[in-house]
Amino acid sequence: MPNQKGSFHIMAAAELKEPVVTLSAGPVAAYPRVLRAMSRPIPYDYDPYFQHFYEGVTKKAAKALKVKDPALILHVEPAAAIEAAAASLIGPNDTVLNLASGVYGKGFGYWSARYHKDMVEIEVPFNEAIDPASVAAAFKQRPDIKVVSLVHHDTPSGTINPAREIGKIVRDHGALLLVDAVSSFGGMDIHPADCEADIFITGPGKCLGGAPGISVIAVSDRAWAHMEANPKAPRASILSYLDWKDAWRHDKSFPFTPSVAEVNGFDAVLDQYLDEGPEKVWKRHALTARATRAGVLAMGLQLWAKTESIASPTTTAVRIPEGVTDSAIIDAARQIFGVVFSTGRNDTMGKLLRIGHMGLVAEPVYAVVAITALGGALRKLGRKVDVSAGINAALQVIEAA
Ligand SMILES: *Cc1c(COP(=O)(O)O)cnc(C)c1O
Repeated sequence: MPNQKGSFHIMAAAELKEPVVTLSAGPVAAYPRVLRAMSRPIPYDYDPYFQHFYEGVTKKAAKALKVKDPALILHVEPAAAIEAAAASLIGPNDTVLNLASGVYGKGFGYWSARYHKDMVEIEVPFNEAIDPASVAAAFKQRPDIKVVSLVHHDTPSGTINPAREIGKIVRDHGALLLVDAVSSFGGMDIHPADCEADIFITGPGKCLGGAPGISVIAVSDRAWAHMEANPKAPRASILSYLDWKDAWRHDKSFPFTPSVAEVNGFDAVLDQYLDEGPEKVWKRHALTARATRAGVLAMGLQLWAKTESIASPTTTAVRIPEGVTDSAIIDAARQIFGVVFSTGRNDTMGKLLRIGHMGLVAEPVYAVVAITALGGALRKLGRKVDVSAGINAALQVIEAA
């Protein structure tokens, strides 16, 4: 990500034992069946077995994404796939509307700057969401906007943007919409068609409970046409969308070596998601987040999100109270309970901590674990926190579900 700042606390070597529970905002603890799949033998990528298997995985991904075409897989982590989308999609004559409600949204603007002709940016405080009316107003002022970039869930803030409403406005104006759904797809009800996305980027390493090494992308026909017409779109590059466009077909070659073990893992990720049933998966993410928020509030702490309605069902960001640091809380939770939380990132670093509800740990019992570790850490640091009230509030939400 551009403009990295902030620092990480370094634990003493003696404290470096494996965590008991990882409640991070990604990468996350992977499902056992995913780990088993990743340890399968590595076939030669041009062995017909693997070529057919790969085609099957891209079709299974299309089923999960609810799109007609096999999904595009890029063999890089999602951050690189988003940067690559900027390079492939944004041509030298394009005006971009960048929507920034958090660190990832803001960061996309720096990537876009390398390729666009001009950029309009709507930036809101990083605990708020983008107002669709502001997007409509931007189009009114700048009818030349050709590409719009939106982060659905800006993870370092734990906030959700109204992708459906924004997508409709973008489509009405005939522009192309790029959606970063890396930390929301698989954990809540969002698909490319829901928000009329032309490029919809996600990956296995967040809500789907896999490893973070590859990216999974749905591309519309309009976006392919725009990339094909872009004279500056990268070619002969592992980051080229166009080079990888037909790689899903068993009778086509791979432009570069695919990450075979990651593809094995992704196949298991998709089975896990589709076998359990997406509705059930979204429901347990939402319930875990709701129970966690209730517990946080009952302990007298504040959510980072300005209103609870924009708080993410896959990550709960908690404001750091006055007089204590994020790293003191996180270290205490880790040392006493073996529970891992995430810090903020860049502009949210130091202001909040994040409790992830993604994949394997998007289970209500982990709301109780999170509240115990968070409240217990604060108590250890000498704060007056009613941990039992927090646990009780979380349990009430779970029992009422
Ligand atoms: C995690 C994340 C990314 C990047 O994913 P990596 O696995 O770090 O490459 C991009 N966007 C959002 C919103 C994310 O949460």
